[in-house]
Amino acid sequence: MTQPHQVAGAHPVANLVETHETATDKASNAERKYHIWTIGCQMNIADSNHVAAELEKIGYGPTNKLDDADVVVLNTCVVRQSAEDKAIGKLGSLKPWRKGNPDRTLALMGCMVGVKPSQQLLDAYPEVDVFMAPSEATPLVNRLRQAEIDAEMAHMERQQIAARFRLQDELQPVGTQQSIKHLALSGQVPVAAHVPIVYGCSHACTFCIIPFRRGVERSRSVAEIVNEVRGLVAQGVREVTLLGQIVDRYGYDLRGEMGNSATVAPYLGSAENNLPLVDATLQDEAAYDLADLLRAVHEIEGLWRIRFLTSHPNYMTDRILHAVRDLPKVCEHIEVPIQAGDDEVLERMKRGYTNADYRQLVAHIRQTIPNVAIHTDIIIGFCGESDEQFEKTMEVLGDLKLDKAHIARYSPRPGTVSARRMSDDVTEEVKVARFARLEALQEQVCAEINQRSLGETVEVLVEELHKDKWRGRTRTNKLVFIDSPLPLRGRLVEVEITWTGPWSMQGRFVRDVSPLPVKITAPKTTISLFAAD
Ligand code: SF4
Repeated sequence: MTQPHQVAGAHPVANLVETHETATDKASNAERKYHIWTIGCQMNIADSNHVAAELEKIGYGPTNKLDDADVVVLNTCVVRQSAEDKAIGKLGSLKPWRKGNPDRTLALMGCMVGVKPSQQLLDAYPEVDVFMAPSEATPLVNRLRQAEIDAEMAHMERQQIAARFRLQDELQPVGTQQSIKHLALSGQVPVAAHVPIVYGCSHACTFCIIPFRRGVERSRSVAEIVNEVRGLVAQGVREVTLLGQIVDRYGYDLRGEMGNSATVAPYLGSAENNLPLVDATLQDEAAYDLADLLRAVHEIEGLWRIRFLTSHPNYMTDRILHAVRDLPKVCEHIEVPIQAGDDEVLERMKRGYTNADYRQLVAHIRQTIPNVAIHTDIIIGFCGESDEQFEKTMEVLGDLKLDKAHIARYSPRPGTVSARRMSDDVTEEVKVARFARLEALQEQVCAEINQRSLGETVEVLVEELHKDKWRGRTRTNKLVFIDSPLPLRGRLVEVEITWTGPWSMQGRFVRDVSPLPVKITAPKTTISLFAAD
């Protein structure tokens, strides 16, 4: 361990009452830095050394410059009034350092805190993030670890969402054979894969570039999709997510209904095609919607889970919701963006629904599918969004308590209607501030939702090893990390949740519940491709 700081004029004998100040005086190359200010006896100095050692264990390095520090610890003494006054003065001087910097952590330690901080102390110093009893570094270390885990999870989520959007935005229609070949040649076969089912979009929301870049909506044929999923399953994929810009409009173009929600009503299907399908190719594909496709994909042996995204509020039919409710492989997870909480903003975006419509839809989804997780997308600071209009978004997220919100700050994309005809008049500063507020609210909501799973046993499909822990997702798409020496990749397991945070949960392996192995044969096209390469 490196010596974190030198003691300037420290008394050589512990437990004396003279006061001494110490400060971290070593530089470090560590990315994150701590600074410890100590006053008091040798015991306090020893405690500060202990805190420093614990911080270094989790990757922090010392700095003597306050402005470089991510963490400042004040280790206090109250034996003499002068020592207490100095600590209070130091605390006051640190207010500006902490204020408005959510990434910084201020910890107060030692005799001023005592065994437990008094309410008076908590009230007097709201800028202090962590109160620590003498010799007790654990609360600070736990908080920093937690923040690190949360940041990592948030980063991972963002990466996955970005990858999904890239796939949705940029994938050109490719034939079944090419998709299968690509996967087969790309190294390790993933446990969960994405399968585009509708390309392009005919809706034309004013902020969106997709219709210009990807053209009008085109659904792939059921046979082609089923064939591709069979090929993926034969290679070891266990979960597929069916992708479309408006995934619940799957099949509209096959029926010749190319309009948007202003001109085309949601497809309600007919009694015959509500039946489970065994061979998709025998049916009339022009009569298919997403519910039928889900039924066709559900028949594929060896496939364990199915998801689909992204939905549009205007096309979420009961047929689709009933398919989610009734088909065991289809996960209780709906991604349906609201984008904004204010009706005028929604109108400017040309989304085609109101705040009240969306609230009603969420209530209906929850009523239809027990324990469903609903995710949404939000755009902050769209053209002309006033403070009051933004508050409607805060309000709707606060009320609905959705499982996840993917939040983005508006930026005009050249060629879109909003870029050509509207003014990007919400300043970047305001967008950043609104984003922070909404993200904080959603973090709180996610933390509360996840906390309800504490002690429960949930089903997780394990996708990969991540830093010595197995990483997987629940049916409701919640990230779970499992500590287990067993080879769990690609297994469906039950996990008892032992810890929860806003972005992820941790759990204990209970048992493997993977379905029995079935003999899976790849479609002929897949086999010939493998042989050819
Ligand atoms: S945002 Fe609107 S236009 Fe863009 S892909 Fe989604 S529905 Fe289509």
